[in-house]
Amino acid sequence: MTNFPTTDEIARNVREALDRIGVSAEATTGPVAVHTPITGGQIAGTFANTAEDVDAAIGRADAAFRGWREVPAPVRGALVKRWGELLVEYKQDLAVIVTAEAGKIPSEAAGEVQEMIDIVDLAVGQSRQLYGKTMPSERPGHRLAETWHPLGVVGIITAFNFPVAVYAWNTALALIAGDTVVWKPAEAVRLSAIATDALLARAVEEVGAPADLHQLVLADRHAAAAIVEDDRVRLVSATGSVRMGREIAPTIAARFGRALLELGGNNAAIVAPSADLDLALRGIVFAAAGTAGQRCTTLRRLIVHTSVADELVERIAKAYGTLAIGAPTSEGTLVGPLINRASFDAQQQALRDAVEQGGTVVCGGERVLEDAAADAFYVQPAVVRMPAQSQVMHEETFAPILYVVTYDELADAIALNNEVPQGLSSAIFTQDQAEAERFLSASGSDCGISNVNIGTSGAEIGGAFGGEKETGGGRESGSDSWKIYMRQATNTINYSGELPLAQGVEFI
Ligand code: NAD
Repeated sequence: MTNFPTTDEIARNVREALDRIGVSAEATTGPVAVHTPITGGQIAGTFANTAEDVDAAIGRADAAFRGWREVPAPVRGALVKRWGELLVEYKQDLAVIVTAEAGKIPSEAAGEVQEMIDIVDLAVGQSRQLYGKTMPSERPGHRLAETWHPLGVVGIITAFNFPVAVYAWNTALALIAGDTVVWKPAEAVRLSAIATDALLARAVEEVGAPADLHQLVLADRHAAAAIVEDDRVRLVSATGSVRMGREIAPTIAARFGRALLELGGNNAAIVAPSADLDLALRGIVFAAAGTAGQRCTTLRRLIVHTSVADELVERIAKAYGTLAIGAPTSEGTLVGPLINRASFDAQQQALRDAVEQGGTVVCGGERVLEDAAADAFYVQPAVVRMPAQSQVMHEETFAPILYVVTYDELADAIALNNEVPQGLSSAIFTQDQAEAERFLSASGSDCGISNVNIGTSGAEIGGAFGGEKETGGGRESGSDSWKIYMRQATNTINYSGELPLAQGVEFI
């Protein structure tokens, strides 16, 4: 039986962490309640920004941009570097706040902060590598080149389940690119945002950068509408549900703003007959039950070859039976709470739908620990065997439910992988190289992330992160994602003393 902290104990730990980070008590004793999903109790209160506040924040960020864009990129990198040093110093404190607000187990919360540190490292190096190409001109005495310039204000909207890392993915790159940022975090995780912003504020002050280059707005979606609507916000980077993406994308498109959308996933793994089942089992259980199924990359659909399906399902169910579910603050806990009651209701509804659509629950699904934490929502991760075609498998339910279907031919498995409207992450477990290559080929997985012999979650920051179709098409983090935070200019420089026109055109 898990050891439950009281809400007061959680609040005290969070307050101490905030104290060390340097967040004043006044900032977290406002009228807007902050609850912890660990017990469901209130641990703090914040202030709410109004639509007027958001408008003013965009104005300040826009004004700060005028100066920041003139600062050489490697000098901008020095700010990000200092922020990273502070993240290293306060990693544990930030992780405590993330655990309290998002319910992540400590190693995952610390891993999330580590992801911030990693992207900062990448961004600092990138600040000296904002390369443009030089191309041969078709005209003598001419040079053709491209340059990359700062874009402007970047509006960052983030989801509850990665309260700090996604902000850092965006902000580290936006700042070295010469942009300024306005951040609207998810309502459930405002303390994590306040703490993260305070560390950036300290770095800004220490290196003497413009104080207004980062703006945090604690606003709901209505008060924050200007981030989506305002022409001064040149890029809106929004992470969250497909529903949210559908709401904001047309507004951004109508004003020809730039959008980077990181929306819902519905990720699958194929298990081929040649797979190393021991390895597959570990990869599957972490991807499906880790973070209580609340990652965009959570494994939700398992597509198993008929010849190994029964054995694998039995082993998954057995492994699920050993998972320690409980307060993430208790040592040994692997599966923490769902974020709130709405999430639990959606989980229950999905299980009812699955059964109605011909599914058989192999294990799990029920609420647990209700006696210890009546206002919190812990569930036993579920495994449900499904017929191949089921509507419920086309929807993302943000909870630990793993649907299992079988296949006989790899082409059918790939078709099942691709049949859902989302396109974030995918994986194949196989020891057959030809199968792996088919999965990774142009006619293989249609997702933004395709893995071999690892699960669907837990990406490193070095690669570009994002997905296709309803996942929104955005790419963040490594590779050349930095380009979306900048504008590209093509320059033709004529040093010939003549004026030859391109394509041989003759004029005056
Ligand atoms: P959500 O869509 O409810 O909210 C996400 C954020 O968008 C919040 O800050 C919310 O206040 C804001 N928002 C919602 N509607 C808005 C609107 N009309 N205008 C402006 N802001 C608006 O999502 P959530 O429940 O916080 O997070 C879970 C979802 O996020 C899942 O679907 C998950 O897959 C997705 N997610 C995707 C990624 C990714 O990289 N693809 C990463 C993390 C989470």
